[in-house]
Amino acid sequence: MLNEIRTYLKSSRAYLIAGFLFTIVVIVTAIIITKDTTTAIIFSAILFIIVTLFLFMIGRKRNQELDQIKTIVNNIRTRVYKSVDEIVLSEDLITLETAIKEMYEKSKNDIEYLERLQIMRSQFIANVSHELRTPIFTIQGYIETLLEGAINDPKVNYQFLMKANQHTINLSNLINDLIDISMIESGEMRMSFRYFGVNDYLTTIIEEIKPLAEERGLELVYNPVRDGLEIFADKNRLKHAFVNIIHNSIKYTEHGKVEVLVEEAHKSVIFTVRDTGIGIPEASINRIFERFYRVDKARSRSVGGTGLGLAIVKHILEAHNSEIEVKSVLNKGSEFRFKLSK
Ligand code: ADP
Repeated sequence: MLNEIRTYLKSSRAYLIAGFLFTIVVIVTAIIITKDTTTAIIFSAILFIIVTLFLFMIGRKRNQELDQIKTIVNNIRTRVYKSVDEIVLSEDLITLETAIKEMYEKSKNDIEYLERLQIMRSQFIANVSHELRTPIFTIQGYIETLLEGAINDPKVNYQFLMKANQHTINLSNLINDLIDISMIESGEMRMSFRYFGVNDYLTTIIEEIKPLAEERGLELVYNPVRDGLEIFADKNRLKHAFVNIIHNSIKYTEHGKVEVLVEEAHKSVIFTVRDTGIGIPEASINRIFERFYRVDKARSRSVGGTGLGLAIVKHILEAHNSEIEVKSVLNKGSEFRFKLSK
């Protein structure tokens, strides 16, 4: 009991000196006014008891409030709360309660974000290891078979070497895409925007890709737009996006054509890459921009896909404040469309 009183009085330390000073002033005033020392002493003793009681009450309240705060801090630290509404302080401390709630919400979001990031990072590493392992094992398999004697068999040796070579190309594509995506996602992608003419730009890209389309018996079509039409973009990054989209159209089209269309709008230019290819199932349309997502893994690998091409496209277009739209009909073809400022 005595200990408790001492603790509470200690807690009201901030008011203790003021309280005692006040008592002394009142005692001295009482002695001066009453000129009667006995009355003054009785009066002062009563006042002293009242002040001490008052201080005791203040100290107790302060201690209770501090205990509440300590419990809340502890509960936050040990993640006891399921919802922010479980944080409750007494009515006098409503401002503090609001501040703690805000802090709790923020740290909860930060922790959840970091946890999500951690899961994504682990998944990414698992995916990368898996993606690297596939071509390495295949190359290893062909080389071992050749070394075990197939090298002297003219029926298969050239074919095996060609296949091993194709897988080294896949491996190198994957490593290049991995470098690009990690640069983009770590924020190291420096953008360099400027105005440039659409026609020359697209003609050069189309000329570079045409041999690949012809190799696969496809027509690659680009109808030039008016000369002088310019867009504001990062030339190199945008080329990367165009090449990835057009390459995909070529990769996933068996016969027919791939068209690159340009429409001029009021403040923007709309680009469309359309193909007559295998199309994308509806359920996959929203997923094809995820890293390593492929509708058909084996097919993507057989055409040298890495599963990262469209993730890179999405990032590049986001850096241009643009979004890509996809329309596709299975076995009829797909259309990729995005807008850029002019
Ligand atoms: P990949 O390297 O596998 O082509 P992408 O990220 O470029 O990876 O594309 C993801 C997936 O989206 C592809 O594996 C493919 O299934 C699908 N896809 C992309 N473009 C087309 C297209 N033009 N036609 C059909 N499917 C496509």
